[in-house]
Amino acid sequence: MSTPPSAARTDEVVRLTGVSRTYGTERTLVRALDDVTIGFRRGTFTAVMGPSGSGKTTLLQCAAGLDRPTAGSVQIDGQELTKLGEKELTLLRRDRIGFIFQAFNLLPALTVADNVALPLRLAGRKPERGAVLQALERVGLAARASHRPGELSGGQQQRVAIARALIARPAVLFGDEPTGALDTRTALQVLRLLRDAVHHEGQTAVVVTHDPVAASHADRTVFLADGGVVDELYGASADTIAERMTHLGAWGDRFSDFAEGAV
Ligand code: ADP
Ligand code: MG
Repeated sequence: MSTPPSAARTDEVVRLTGVSRTYGTERTLVRALDDVTIGFRRGTFTAVMGPSGSGKTTLLQCAAGLDRPTAGSVQIDGQELTKLGEKELTLLRRDRIGFIFQAFNLLPALTVADNVALPLRLAGRKPERGAVLQALERVGLAARASHRPGELSGGQQQRVAIARALIARPAVLFGDEPTGALDTRTALQVLRLLRDAVHHEGQTAVVVTHDPVAASHADRTVFLADGGVVDELYGASADTIAERMTHLGAWGDRFSDFAEGAV
């Protein structure tokens, strides 16, 4: 499902304009993000790729209001994040944004159902059992509601984390290498599930992945290098994505075999 780059900007749920994020001062200055302008449209699934240190995590954290840019503007659903105070930002993150991490971040002492219900509890809403089960059904784990995370496989734990991220029905879901700890097949299943959930609910997902096959399931793949967006592909095949990565510096060695069809 590819979308033309020229599509109307009004449909963008996330918009970064001239966003820079630097660390340190003068001699130790690092430009983690350098003047990035990019938007993400409602109902789309975007994969973000780039060499280690290219700014993927910084991009996601700035877009999700977990980090503050040094310069530029970030809008979520038309709301300017950089103008919000800490308290307003926390509320916006809670109500509009979901985040999935590589390390699942489930609470081991809680059941699967209680883990999924947690964001609603933290928001002071009484979670309905039906809503929790529905979220678990969406990730195919309703039968595991009373299990503890430790009793589940890595892929199942990440699916619980997805159910937890989806239950508050956020406008945008960010994932920073959410399948990085999973084997290739499980990673694909988890990404497909995430993509289908996003399409089904008209939500928006922006997910960092190192896997060209996984990225080929996205509507769009955005390539970062040295803190900047250097390219994007719509509805590209895994081969095309891998081929593009071989020209992004540090990726070259790692993926040249893949591009030649050796993997
Ligand atoms: P990626 O996720 O693509 O690996 P990051 O966004 O984590 O890249 O980092 C981008 C650049 O910013 C890297 O050069 C990294 O070393 C630097 N960086 C990230 N966080 C910090 C920090 N807290 N202090 C100093 N430099 C940082
Ligand atoms: Mg990172």
